[in-house]
Amino acid sequence: HMPTDELRALDAAHHIHPFSDTAQMRARGARVITQAEGVWLTDSEGNRILDGMAGLWCVNIGYGRTELADVAARQMAQLPYYNTFFMTTHPPAVALSAKLAQIAPGDKNRVFYAGSGSEANETNIRLARHYWHLLGHPEKKTIIARKNGYHGSTMGAASLGGMAGMHAQGGMPIPDIVHIDQPHWWAEGGGMSPEEFGLARARQLEEMIDQLGEDKIAAFIAEPIQGAGGVIIPPETYWPEITRICREHHILLIADEVICGFGRTGHWFGTDYYDLDPDIMTIAKGLSSGYQPIGGSIVRESVAQVIEDGGEFNHGYTYSSHPVAAAVALENIRILEEEKVIDRVRSETAPYLQQKWASLADHPMVGEARMAGLMGALELTPEKASRAKFAEEGAVGLMTRERCFANGLVMRHVGDKMIISPPLVISKEEVDRLIELAWQSLDEGMAD
Ligand code: PLP
Repeated sequence: HMPTDELRALDAAHHIHPFSDTAQMRARGARVITQAEGVWLTDSEGNRILDGMAGLWCVNIGYGRTELADVAARQMAQLPYYNTFFMTTHPPAVALSAKLAQIAPGDKNRVFYAGSGSEANETNIRLARHYWHLLGHPEKKTIIARKNGYHGSTMGAASLGGMAGMHAQGGMPIPDIVHIDQPHWWAEGGGMSPEEFGLARARQLEEMIDQLGEDKIAAFIAEPIQGAGGVIIPPETYWPEITRICREHHILLIADEVICGFGRTGHWFGTDYYDLDPDIMTIAKGLSSGYQPIGGSIVRESVAQVIEDGGEFNHGYTYSSHPVAAAVALENIRILEEEKVIDRVRSETAPYLQQKWASLADHPMVGEARMAGLMGALELTPEKASRAKFAEEGAVGLMTRERCFANGLVMRHVGDKMIISPPLVISKEEVDRLIELAWQSLDEGMAD
């Protein structure tokens, strides 16, 4: 229990932060979060802050679930670590795999584990290329992804991602990964109806396949709803067309469910929300509600069969199928099911929050308030009618995020979009509070 100033000084001296502006952070002092319960964080100065982001879109079950801590403690005492390399297994890996096969749609019956979403997407690159190699098509190795998509921070995953700011730091994308445009109608619709725009953006995939040659393409990867890019909800025409193109051109479809999975859309997966049938699904985050680091790839049976028949897959992480993480994930899924958390999101919480969220579009600074399930974005603009951008992109978003935090609400900013993705267990009263704090913070921004 060190005083806040001392913690900040030590932090500044020794801790390199992910995705943080160090100079700004030192000027205002890093926020020190010390505990959490439900949807509420507490900082080292005793302030309570409503976590509108569920951490990093991951604490789906909410904070403070001691059942998860108990399961972790029991598993640590019994078998704190073992791996599933070299033809071994252990009960938590078996039980979690069987459970995931049950809740994943259709014939997605096999799971390869990783320690995170980034690692899982690295696995997916290798799986997709190895699959085609085994089928006698080693030249089918290019992966098509989307601009402004996010798939993680390792070299392969950040290359799949379409974040220009990340690519600029360290020579990405790596070879054989290319990007098409995102289906962001509000900002890029260019006078088309959402339906026309959805088709046009999906057909960019076909154009890219035609340009590079179908015999060079291994897979297309995308988030059902782009999260970190700013909650980009595709028009209804988008996914059916993408599915047609992947099937007709014989390329694998990888749905990155790291954010959309485990209830965020009011269904188990974004794949269920859009009625997709991907060959591989990336999972992480909500799989354990962030209580343990774990990710994985859920693979269609027929694809997994090719890999398995091909002999040893020379790939794996020390923490693939970590027993404590697997046991915690299983308990998290048990609670989601037993307490009907996802059903409640679909039938009650999401409709309630969506209606309140939509009312924020009346604010003079908000051009659009969109939401699917419990993930939403506000497009901030200086001029609603023209959907103009602010002169310095991201500055108003950053200021709004800081203002929200000072008022007791975590919202994230992506440029000048404000994002929420609260724990799935948020109550109606807490939704009301979230909306109140968002209005207040936007109003204060206008006043400046
Ligand atoms: N995929 C998506 C869609 C994500 O949003 C993220 C993280 O935000 C990742 C992958 C990477 O996951 P991790 O940070 O666990 O490596």
